[in-house]
Amino acid sequence: MEQKTAIALECSSCATAICGNNKIGDNLIELIVDEVVRTLGVNSPQKTSSSPYPLIPLGVSNRHIHISQGTFEKLFGAGTPFESYRALYQPGEFASGNIVAIVGPRMRSIQSVRILGPFRNYNQVEISLTEAIQLGINPPIRNAGDLKGAEPLTLIGPEGSTYLPECAIIANRHIHISNDDAKIFGVKAGDFCRVKIGGEKSTILENVLIRTKDSWKLQLHLDTDDANAANIRGETFAEFLGKM
Ligand SMILES: [Zn+2]
Repeated sequence: MEQKTAIALECSSCATAICGNNKIGDNLIELIVDEVVRTLGVNSPQKTSSSPYPLIPLGVSNRHIHISQGTFEKLFGAGTPFESYRALYQPGEFASGNIVAIVGPRMRSIQSVRILGPFRNYNQVEISLTEAIQLGINPPIRNAGDLKGAEPLTLIGPEGSTYLPECAIIANRHIHISNDDAKIFGVKAGDFCRVKIGGEKSTILENVLIRTKDSWKLQLHLDTDDANAANIRGETFAEFLGKM
């Protein structure tokens, strides 16, 4: 099928396609385009002639961190405000202006990883397999917050560092969806499904987890490895192919 385009740049409870290297100014165009797209309602699920289901907006999650308030204060100092400079697609979620370095057990590092808010009650670093290889670690593929057996990393901020023995995961492929929208697709929380992304490197993705919350807007979240494999450049919709 033909790819349709929309803006869906980030993950929510997990994350964002905001690059850790971006400066605030670099995101200005994104912000403007986001606003235009919101105004046009382009992200609304749409019917197509070829699929009986609404198309699913796609968000690509760049590496990012979810963090507890205590860990944040270790890295940035007590009293440092934790503020949004960019709201994410999912209500209440934001990209903060706070960036840290992450260092693996063999002193391999990635210099800039953005922290997403709001605070969580756990510390979680979501990276792609490509980045894990770069860091010299072997993280499991996990849902957000499921950190038993996750890999260790050290986080370094401007005011301190902290070693987190179980923090690094590769996020599973997942769809954020409200319970009402889930009924349209005939799925429920915990189901796995199959989706198709069109284009020159058209790709069918399996084992895509359904995650539900009534405040969520419909969105498929992929990491950068999956997105690059499907040659996703701009903003894209995926086609729902059914439950596994
Ligand atoms: Zn997500």
